[in-house]
Amino acid sequence: MGTLVGACLCGAVTISLSEPKPHIEVCQCTMCRRWGGAFFAGQDGGEVEIAGEAHVRTFQSSAWAERAFCDRCGSHLWFRFLPTGYCSFCAGLFDASIDKPIEKEIFCDEAAAWTHLTGDHDRKTGAEIIAEAEAAGFTFE
Ligand SMILES: [Zn+2]
Ligand SMILES: [Zn+2]
Repeated sequence: MGTLVGACLCGAVTISLSEPKPHIEVCQCTMCRRWGGAFFAGQDGGEVEIAGEAHVRTFQSSAWAERAFCDRCGSHLWFRFLPTGYCSFCAGLFDASIDKPIEKEIFCDEAAAWTHLTGDHDRKTGAEIIAEAEAAGFTFE
């Protein structure tokens, strides 16, 4: 799989992932729904290049997470898990992500009636995700 290049609506910010994951992850939690971007593309390792960083603003949405957006057009850019620095990028920024299947749907128990997804991908409830993270050593107050 080649480099995945994405851009915000106005083009001020571009993001390039050298080793994108071959699938999309979906978070159905109430915070992601309110924020407006619950579909994420990610990568493990590799290079992430961000151009137009002067237009990137961040909002710390909880003790452990930060969300980024473009200050010109308001496009949501990524969700960053602060303990590891891992970024999950909004999948809609990347035109080439359109064919990617969903690998995992998390906080599926918080889905709205109008965000239910079909298919037999992996589904985890919020309690399961928090238990997994706590087992991995992360704490959430
Ligand atoms: Zn923009
Ligand atoms: Zn979420």
